Amino acid sequence: MNLMLFGAPGAGKGTQAKFLIEKYGIPQISTGDILRAAIADNTDMGMEAKKFMDEGKLVPDSTIIGIIKDRLAEDDCKKGFILDGFPRTLAQAQALDKLMADMEILLDKVISLDVPDELIVGRITGRRVCSKCGASFHVEFNPSKEENVCDYCGGELIIRKDDNAETVKSRLEAYHAQTAPLIDFYTDMGVFVELDGTKDVSEVTKDMIAAL
Ligand code: ADP
Ligand code: ADP
Ligand code: ZN
Repeated sequence: MNLMLFGAPGAGKGTQAKFLIEKYGIPQISTGDILRAAIADNTDMGMEAKKFMDEGKLVPDSTIIGIIKDRLAEDDCKKGFILDGFPRTLAQAQALDKLMADMEILLDKVISLDVPDELIVGRITGRRVCSKCGASFHVEFNPSKEENVCDYCGGELIIRKDDNAETVKSRLEAYHAQTAPLIDFYTDMGVFVELDGTKDVSEVTKDMIAAL
């Protein structure tokens, strides 16, 4: 199963990816997580990407496409994968199309989580992420069982540097200008499914499984 989770920043992609990993035994490929790991490792690519991420802007396509090309070539992707936060521009979508054609694989579904901008700000400012495994929680809407401790791996929960009200504005602008046009791209491909992302986490999961 080759899947893509689509939606605005904070729409719930990472949260839902966790359920798909469990159900289908396929890896989640989050370009955001890969970039944050590169920053933590102090690589040249990470340092370059950080400038864009801190401002809530998209990292250049050439960097992102390189990351995905390497990641899809890894063994664990043979069973399938869940793309999360990629592609975010038409150039990225076209590059993915070509990569997958070369690999002779198809995209099964694009699951879009629709959440209006007004709700995104509260989701992002209340988000807490695991410093070890990247799992996402919310102080109010999806709290961890123990405060500041990850349910999945016991890691410490932190606030992402770019999760502030100011950066959210530019991230939403980037989403509407550069990413939302991909809705037409994947609708034309016949794989686009839109879900109401404003429902509770467990209800969105149910709808998602039903759509698959
Ligand atoms: P969110 O879903 O909250 O926006 P991500 O972890 O997906 O968070 O992304 C964090 C940041 O990493 C983005 O604001 C952007 O700067 C960068 N980024 C992640 N994925 C991409 C991508 N596919 N193209 C360009 N930039 C990306
Ligand atoms: P994305 O990966 O799309 O950026 P996340 O999965 O990290 O989004 O979710 C963003 C924030 O919203 C997190 O704090 C998460 O716990 C919370 N969240 C996710 N899904 C829901 C939901 N259905 N209802 C309320 N809050 C949610
Ligand atoms: Zn964790």
